[in-house]
Parts: sequence; structure tokens; C-alpha cells
Amino acid sequence: MRGHIRKRATWQITVDFGMQPLQRCPACRKRYWTRDGRLPGCPKCGGLLEEDLARLRGTFIPIMPLSDDIR
Ligand SMILES: [Zn+2]
Repeated sequence: MRGHIRKRATWQITVDFGMQPLQRCPACRKRYWTRDGRLPGCPKCGGLLEEDLARLRGTFIPIMPLSDDIR
């Protein structure tokens, strides 16, 4: 797993999970990550899902202790 920290207005931690399998619904244009199990069809419209791979990123904003210069 790779990741990095970027300083913007607030601290943000972006974690890069790499390429992950997903299923995509062409009708709803929604993506469903399939790491936790495959879907028989789209939960929204019941349509057929296409198999694909995409880069999965997660963004977290950590809770920082308030210091004098943040106030
Ligand atoms: Zn759908």
C-alpha cells in the first residue's frame, strides 16, 4: 500500500490502494467495488454490470490538536 500526505487548507491523508476490481453499471454510471463480494446485478436498476479495474483512493482528514496558530 502506498500513500502520501498533502498540506492544503487542512491536512489531508490520501491512501492509494492501487488498482482494484470493480463492477460498473453503464445505465446508472455507478461503480461498485468488488473486493467484498461480487454483485449479481446493479442494486439500483438491476441491470448487468461490467467488469473493470480502477485506482481506488481514500481521503482522510485526521483530527489535529488545536494549536495557537490554527485559532
Ligand atoms: Zn444501474
